[in-house]
Amino acid sequence: MIPQTFIDEVQSKTDIVELINSYFPLKHSGRNFRALCPFHSEKNPSFFVSPQKQIFHCFSCGEGGGPIQFVMLYERVSFVEAIEILAKRLGLKIPYENREREKQKNTLYQAVNEASLFFHRSLLVESSKPILIYLKKRGIEKEAIEKFRIGYAIGKKTLMDYLRKKGFSLDVLEKTSLVVSTSDGYRDFFNERIIFPIFDLRSRVLGFGARLWQEREDLPKYINSLESSIYSKREHLFGFNFSKEDVLKNDCAIIVEGYLDMIIPFINGIRNIVASLGTALTIEQINLIKRYTKNIILVFDPDRAGETATLRSLDLLLENDLKVRIAKLPSGFDPDSFVREKGKDNFLEILNKSLNFFDYKIEVLKNTYDVESIVGKTKIAQDFFNTLDKLTSEIEKYEYIKLLSQELKIREEILIAEFRNFTSKNRGRTFSSNNNSKISEPLSLTEKVLLKFMLVNNKAFSIIKNNLEPQDFNYPLAKKTVAYFFEKYHMVQNGNLANLIGSIEDKEISGFVSKILIDDDIPLEKEIFKDSLEKLRKKKIKSLKNNLLGEIKEAEKNKDKERLKKLIEKYNKIRS
Ligand code: ZN
Repeated sequence: MIPQTFIDEVQSKTDIVELINSYFPLKHSGRNFRALCPFHSEKNPSFFVSPQKQIFHCFSCGEGGGPIQFVMLYERVSFVEAIEILAKRLGLKIPYENREREKQKNTLYQAVNEASLFFHRSLLVESSKPILIYLKKRGIEKEAIEKFRIGYAIGKKTLMDYLRKKGFSLDVLEKTSLVVSTSDGYRDFFNERIIFPIFDLRSRVLGFGARLWQEREDLPKYINSLESSIYSKREHLFGFNFSKEDVLKNDCAIIVEGYLDMIIPFINGIRNIVASLGTALTIEQINLIKRYTKNIILVFDPDRAGETATLRSLDLLLENDLKVRIAKLPSGFDPDSFVREKGKDNFLEILNKSLNFFDYKIEVLKNTYDVESIVGKTKIAQDFFNTLDKLTSEIEKYEYIKLLSQELKIREEILIAEFRNFTSKNRGRTFSSNNNSKISEPLSLTEKVLLKFMLVNNKAFSIIKNNLEPQDFNYPLAKKTVAYFFEKYHMVQNGNLANLIGSIEDKEISGFVSKILIDDDIPLEKEIFKDSLEKLRKKKIKSLKNNLLGEIKEAEKNKDKERLKKLIEKYNKIRS
């Protein structure tokens, strides 16, 4: 944990113009500086930096924020890593709130790194020849062995003895699952297995995957390091440290399941590939990929388990606004065996023929349920509603409903009504009420004014907080932003508004906030603020009244006198 005061210090000591200028040159433009945007390709500069406000914003792609967000986007690092980079630039040392823990973590990193080198050397000794021959048969030769630091665990107590001599305690070795305690004392965790080190994005070793090299009935084919304070399975993708540049260049990530499914295509020239190392993707993994691309091709095994994993990953990816395609290998193949047997070009062809999520899902569901029966149609529709509900675009929702109506041979209006039913039952969220594709209205001046006041003036912030709710705002991102700031209210009260703006970790909110801040056309006049506040308040009261009237009607119909009395009281109170 980095203390907020330190984050504030880093922000206030960093000059954003100087910071960005150290990456690429900025040109003067009135009160601001401008340049070609580094986050999308363009011919005319729409990337602005404001020295007064210490923010940047691109009017084309919408990225924006303070120094921390700039480093996050430019260096493609996490929030904490961005602070580390900025602190280093300023010559400041981060006062981690838990020094002891940091120190211990460093020891764990050192231990697994030493272990990876030991395993790697053990593969290259004379007695490991049979393993090298086996690897060669599986398409892995010297170059790949070096690149991925593939190794061999001899086992027994070889690694333990080596690392103990190097000064690592048994406690550290146990915490990193390099040794295990048994009835006759400690011994190595990995025995007679081929070792694949798992690296993080900065190419630090975190743990290991270990594969048997001779089939054995009594042992699992793969075992992995257990979770530790440096390794959490759900936060990492295997091979991403090697492939991230190519994912960026291709603007697409191919996601496979296992170590060899990643390594074999990679060394055969398909380099924008990562492995999830689990059955379904996690939100942490998705966030990692999102820094590099929004386009995903999933390649999972064509068996039943693979299908289920794919469907589960699918919803999470769509929910996070990623574009997903699904590649299907012929049955009996995985990416590893397919590339080895059929070659790179055939694999690329399969990738090219990958299905969009709709076509994939409808195919799977049609194989599961009888599409001609009423029960089948209902099941398929319900399952699809779940997925469509995850989409953020109303247009897309509508377009897919149209496709679904053709597939199920059910009239569009009926499906839309069913979907509306489904969403309101689920979360009170409704499909746009006039069943045409309705795009949300643009951000109104009223909301712009309120947001700007809220962001620059602590007092205005409190007034808004006392009078409005996030859902009183119409524009979706305005809702999200207001909710974010309301949650951090205690920090605003301490007068940290400027620093708080720079600490936003959510890219979308950060870009939106910088856009509001850099826009000098939004008036900062008291009268306009009052009018705007009044406008939204009136709207809020109106909708409250409408809701109450609905409830009153309902109570009248049910002859619920008790409730009716309460509701009318409430209604009169609002009216006055
Ligand atoms: Zn841009």
